[in-house]
Amino acid sequence: MKWLSILLGTLIVSSPLYAQNFDQKRAAMVQNQLRQRGIVQTNVLEAFQKVERHLFVPAAYTSMAYSDGPLPIGYGQTISQPYIVAYMTQLVNPKPNGKVLEIGTGSGYQAAILAEIVEKVYTIEIIPELGKSATDRLKELGYQNIEVITADGYHGLEEQAPFDAIVVTAAAEHIPPSLIQQLKEGGKMIIPVGSPFLVQTLMLVEKKAKKVTTKSLMPVRFVPFTRSQEK
Ligand code: SAH
Repeated sequence: MKWLSILLGTLIVSSPLYAQNFDQKRAAMVQNQLRQRGIVQTNVLEAFQKVERHLFVPAAYTSMAYSDGPLPIGYGQTISQPYIVAYMTQLVNPKPNGKVLEIGTGSGYQAAILAEIVEKVYTIEIIPELGKSATDRLKELGYQNIEVITADGYHGLEEQAPFDAIVVTAAAEHIPPSLIQQLKEGGKMIIPVGSPFLVQTLMLVEKKAKKVTTKSLMPVRFVPFTRSQEK
């Protein structure tokens, strides 16, 4: 019986009907979770329609890939709720010729969304295993404009700075000064700030006329921004 269910499982997963099911679920996600909640930028909506979120979650969660919430991706980390990814993406207003830095690669989903819109994405992940699996996944999916770096993102990526936008997907206790410094004039950063495991605040940081302004947007809950052991 076991071989039969494996065979059937394989047939179902590889069947066009199964793929169609994901396409439908993805279209419903874009409509109900994004459009209806105020995501209006065409480039953002198109990216969400295109990127197959079910390929970014562990096999056990594929059927839930288009549900309205975060999902575990191993190592105590999560892939963020689609709406939050869209909200953050829309707020940094990515442009086709843009260069973006993401801190917290995780599954690579946010990086893929950004890469559909901008020219180049640099993404930093502190957990080597997640960095490796995201690198493999993004390569397999054909993304040539994403570079995954395994490091502590606290210091940003000086050698590629400045960035048009910086997207931080782990909650920091304060805004890392290097990240502010690496933001281009006119650039935007979105970052959850607050204590780990408590409610945090999503903040928008803007650099205009050499002045830095910050604005609190909404309460959120992200996994903690961790630090590598430094001597
Ligand atoms: N953007 C991800 C969500 C990942 S959750 C996605 O689309 O799937 C946040 C990620 O930030 C986790 O993978 C965590 O390991 C990573 N992280 C936490 N602190 C970090 C740091 N200092 N530098 C880089 N990555 C960090």
